[in-house]
This record gives sequence, C-alpha cells and structure tokens, in this order.
Amino acid sequence: STPKKICQVIIEFLKDAIDDAAVDPRNIKAIGIGVPGIVSHDGNILESPNIPLAGFPFVKAFQKTFKTRIFVGNDVNLGLLGEKWKGVCRNSKNIISLFLGTGIGGAIVLNGELYIGEHGAGAELGHVTLNMNGPKCTCGNKGCLEAHAGRWAIERDIHHAIRSGKKTVITESFKGGLKRIKSKMLSKALSKKDRVVTHIITQAVVALGHGCISFNHMFNPEMIVLGGGVMEACGGFILPIIRKIVHADPFFKKLPPCKIVESQLGDDAVILGAVAMCKSKGQG
Ligand SMILES: [Zn+2]
Repeated sequence: STPKKICQVIIEFLKDAIDDAAVDPRNIKAIGIGVPGIVSHDGNILESPNIPLAGFPFVKAFQKTFKTRIFVGNDVNLGLLGEKWKGVCRNSKNIISLFLGTGIGGAIVLNGELYIGEHGAGAELGHVTLNMNGPKCTCGNKGCLEAHAGRWAIERDIHHAIRSGKKTVITESFKGGLKRIKSKMLSKALSKKDRVVTHIITQAVVALGHGCISFNHMFNPEMIVLGGGVMEACGGFILPIIRKIVHADPFFKKLPPCKIVESQLGDDAVILGAVAMCKSKGQG
C-alpha cells in the first residue's frame, strides 16, 4: 500500500465517522492524529517502521479535505497525554509511560509537558541499551530493553525453548508448527503455572524492572505508567515484580517511592490524547 492510498482510506473513514456523528464539518476546530512512528514538532512523519507514511505530506492531505487545523503526534506519546488528561496520572507532572505491545513504546512528561526531544525521536524507551552484548533488536542495535522484555523477545525465547524440546502449554495449542504467541496465550500459560513460559516471562519482567530503575534515575518521575496488550493480559503478574525491583533501589531509600501503576484508559488513551494535543496546540 502506498502512503497516498493509506491516507485516502483514513480520510474516507473519517468522513464516514463525521457523517455518522451528524457533525457539521464547519464546526470541527481541529483534527488530531496518532501515528506509530517518529513525528517532528511540526507534525511531519519522519519515520514509521510498520506503516509506510514517512515523508508523505499527511497534514496537507488532511487539510485539503477537512479545511481545519490538523495535529499529528506519536501514538504512545498521545496515549500518555490521554492518561494525563483523563486517566491514571491526572494530577502528575513527571511521568514515564511504557507501552508493552509487540515491542515497548515509551513516553515522557516532564514538568507537565510532553517531552519528545530535539527532532521528535526522544522517549523511545524500548530502545535504551540494557546489555551491550545482548540479543539483536529490530532497530539494529544490540541488547535494547525491548530485545529483552518486549513481547517479540518473549515469543523468540519461547520458540527457542520449544525448538530445543521443552514442553509448554503453548506447544499444545500450536498443534505442530510454531505460531505467533498472543498476550492472552501468555496469561493463560501463567495461570496454568507453565514452568517454561513463567520462567521466560519472569526474566523479561525482571529486565523491564531494571529498565525502570534507569528511568527512575534519569527522571525521578512521580509514577511509571504501564499499558499495552501484554499489561492488559498479564498486568497482575508483571506489576508486583516491577514494584519490588524498583522499590529495592537503595539510592531512593529515603524518598517517596516511585508509583508503578497500570494505565486506565486502554485503547481510548490515544484518542483522548489526540484531543488533548489539539486543545493544547490549538491555543498556540
Ligand atoms: Zn532497539
């Protein structure tokens, strides 16, 4: 699919949604768009690994059709804005969020403002180096946090265990070949106390906990918000381990502990965050 076609599909979808909601297009003050990729301060998509939109004049195409202000942001960043506006961190000013999807997305709010760095490529917390000799990451580096703790890394390790002859409840549901492992399969294996899967997920979560130690040292946030499909499925298993690791850090012994919490809004976080972005940027 070309960027132009993808853009057309989204525009048609949006037109239908506006029709369905019986909204007069002239009353739309702004449109906010969340994109899985690196978005510059002025809304240009610089990179989008999973959907070919980089370099396409997205904002112009939307403006031409809808004749209103268009704001674009990274989806994980918008998710944190949503949680900050209507969700779990409403009164917080210094927040780190980690989105545990296929990989690990990150977002940072400092002094009440989203921090995206010089070019919009900041806060990619899944790609901080945890182990310089670690496994290869999708980004080309070695030993990134998500190469240890992302769902794709968990999947890689489970596949490896299965290939080397270990038995898991996941193997049974595969009926032969290796398949994609969804978050729900992980939570099912955890609830059945599957030894192989529990061990692999525990290792991943311990790695994530150590990533959180680093973020705590870098930003001294009031809270770290964890969201995404893996959290929704396995949050009950993940949270206590992360809390234990982060709260054992002797450096912060005499300070109030960094709160480790689960996001509240699920998929709505990005949508609400897009509205929050329009509200704040629309004033400028
Ligand atoms: Zn990486």
